[in-house]
Amino acid sequence: MDILLNDSIISREDLTIDLEDRGYQFGDGIYEVVRIYERQLFEWEAHAKRLEYSAKELMISLPVRIEELYQNLLKLIKKSSVSVGYVYIQVTRGTAPRAHGFPENCKPNLIAYAREMARPLMKMKNGVRAVTADDIRWLRVDIKSLNLLGNVLAKQKAIEAKAEEAILIRNGIVTEGSSSNVFAIREGKCFTHPANHYILNGITRQLVLRLLNEIGVAVEEIPITKEELFEMDEIFITSTIHEICPVIEIDGVKIGNGAPGVLTGKLQSLFDKLIFPASSI
Ligand code: PMP
Repeated sequence: MDILLNDSIISREDLTIDLEDRGYQFGDGIYEVVRIYERQLFEWEAHAKRLEYSAKELMISLPVRIEELYQNLLKLIKKSSVSVGYVYIQVTRGTAPRAHGFPENCKPNLIAYAREMARPLMKMKNGVRAVTADDIRWLRVDIKSLNLLGNVLAKQKAIEAKAEEAILIRNGIVTEGSSSNVFAIREGKCFTHPANHYILNGITRQLVLRLLNEIGVAVEEIPITKEELFEMDEIFITSTIHEICPVIEIDGVKIGNGAPGVLTGKLQSLFDKLIFPASSI
């Protein structure tokens, strides 16, 4: 596997992660996952903007300019021969003797790699099951940081229940999925949690909001309760990896008629046209 290390591409065997890298010891770093479709980075500008936002909020300075990073990622994708997949980009505050406070003169470490990963077509077509789980995460999940234990434990709960996703509940309110955003539709109106400190403002979420606006569906960015989830006609999750995926059952209870919803399907086909504009004519 080829790795982008700051601004050079090296092989995985030659990569060393220092024992005192703050990402390793404190989870002191940030990341992005960007989809690759046909060797191109999908929604790169939005991901780059979020990476810069996460860096700014944690006072980490990115070690490379965004334009340079973009060009290096394209080289990495080419070298790794990934056609459909993702790139993972991670920036940690750097390496220094262990102490909680920010070290002085610490240089951030950036790594990125690309992996082949097919689109989850069957899940998108048939829908998935979800469970609810307590949102026990910290209060700045708008930052895409490496601290993911709350997400990891929730996802494991879903896996053990043979479900795809855990829908997180904080004080009775639906925030988001363990690795996705949650949308709900009732009587033609769409609800999703507002983009504040309680959720990650997903790039796919932002794109779906644009699509809903384009097709004239009323959207309310307001929190819904756990109880309201079960009164919805349609529910879907969004993420870079899941794209737009119908949720047909939560905690063993069918949503709507237990089949993927019509509006969800419409959004999926609009999304497809954005991924493959040339083939959609
Ligand atoms: N929320 C959480 C907690 C996530 O991990 C993800 C996946 N990165 C998302 C939402 C969806 O974000 P995106 O659409 O940018 O992948």
